[in-house]
Amino acid sequence: MPESVVLPDFDSFGAQAIKGLEDPEAATAATQALLKEDRNSGEPVISAPDENHVTLERGVCREGTWYREAEVKELTGADEEAIAAAGSNSYKVFETLLLRGVRTVGNEPMSRKLAAELLIGDRELLVMSVRRATFGEAIEFTELPCPYCKELTDLTVPLGAIPFTHLADPEQTEFEVPLRHRAVAFVRLPTGEDQAAVFAIKDGNGAKQDSEILNRCVLRVRQGDGTVIKRPPATHLWMGDRKAILKFLTDTQPGPRYNAFAFTHETCGEEVELPIDLAMLFRGV
Ligand SMILES: [Zn+2]
Repeated sequence: MPESVVLPDFDSFGAQAIKGLEDPEAATAATQALLKEDRNSGEPVISAPDENHVTLERGVCREGTWYREAEVKELTGADEEAIAAAGSNSYKVFETLLLRGVRTVGNEPMSRKLAAELLIGDRELLVMSVRRATFGEAIEFTELPCPYCKELTDLTVPLGAIPFTHLADPEQTEFEVPLRHRAVAFVRLPTGEDQAAVFAIKDGNGAKQDSEILNRCVLRVRQGDGTVIKRPPATHLWMGDRKAILKFLTDTQPGPRYNAFAFTHETCGEEVELPIDLAMLFRGV
């Protein structure tokens, strides 16, 4: 799990040509046995019978009421062209998928403003639901090389097998993180707007990106002597405290954990990590 609360690692986006991605019929039921059963613990809540309907973890609040129901749609050729026009920038591609693939959240049509308001985890759950509506539940891999025994293996990964984190209390918007020297940080979870601010920092300085998230999401710090500092500048926080807060924000954010997917390869018995990226989800977009 990365320390930074940027998206799951989409670094390999577009570059990872998994042979056979275009051949969804090839995988057999036998290959599904490769999946480790206990990875299937936390599935996203997808309400039957309408597969284009999804219940978000947090949703949006309007006049004191939370709205969590969302509607996605199957992507068309026009959407595909729009996604291609977003180029190789994984953030823009993700945003395009969200804006074109989601019809409504609560009672509102999807918009840039609405997308910015959503928790990062809800945005990822929505994109997963757009994938489900467009290509179905199964991600098919053929001739995937095992890094341990080198055998080429076919694998079917159901979206529901990707580890998923739920919010303990969907309406809790403020969290306490214990810091060094008996201090406590009061934080909120990052949203699409925070994510956009991080992506706007172009110089590749990860610490600056961390500072941006901390400046936005740390509401106040109560020091060991009881003094409360509102909106402390991230550059003034102790390095250890910064790491602790970022880890909390990453661990607590709900939604699919694309980076945490792994399966047990039956032939050699090894657990093989297989981070799922956007290109795998959307067949090379
Ligand atoms: Zn193996």
